[in-house]
Amino acid sequence: MLFIGVRASRRANHTPTSTDYLLALTSYIFNSSIDGVSPMFEKCTNCSTRVVVGKSDQHGIFCSTVCQHFYRSPGFCQSCDASTTIESAGSTYTLNGIGTKIYGSKSPCSKCGSTIQTKFFCVIYIPLIPLGKYRVKWATPSRYISRRLKPSLSRS
Ligand SMILES: [Zn+2]
Ligand SMILES: [Zn+2]
Repeated sequence: MLFIGVRASRRANHTPTSTDYLLALTSYIFNSSIDGVSPMFEKCTNCSTRVVVGKSDQHGIFCSTVCQHFYRSPGFCQSCDASTTIESAGSTYTLNGIGTKIYGSKSPCSKCGSTIQTKFFCVIYIPLIPLGKYRVKWATPSRYISRRLKPSLSRS
């Protein structure tokens, strides 16, 4: 009888083992969907990168607000289209601090969220020569679409 009593009290004082924590964590990872925080290990609906802490809405799961907005309105609005030309800033990259980069975020558009950014030629990470002004809209955290401002507007 003593033996049974000991067993019973042990069960009552049961402390969670590492296995219990692991099970809880696993069920959290695969089942949780609390307050718009999506389960881990899903892919972004817009850019397909793996979502760690994502935002989900009726359109899907997104890795960032940039992706969430771009998926909802993938492009420039009519007035931004009208104030720009089809010429894009192309790809910008720097190698050892030398190359092209876009800077700034002027005149954010309330309709499509694009901003005016200037493409610069950089040396040692310092923007030296302005190469043109563009309306830029970020498609993913690392990729953007752009349209060059019409010459009359780019001087302002
Ligand atoms: Zn994304
Ligand atoms: Zn716009």
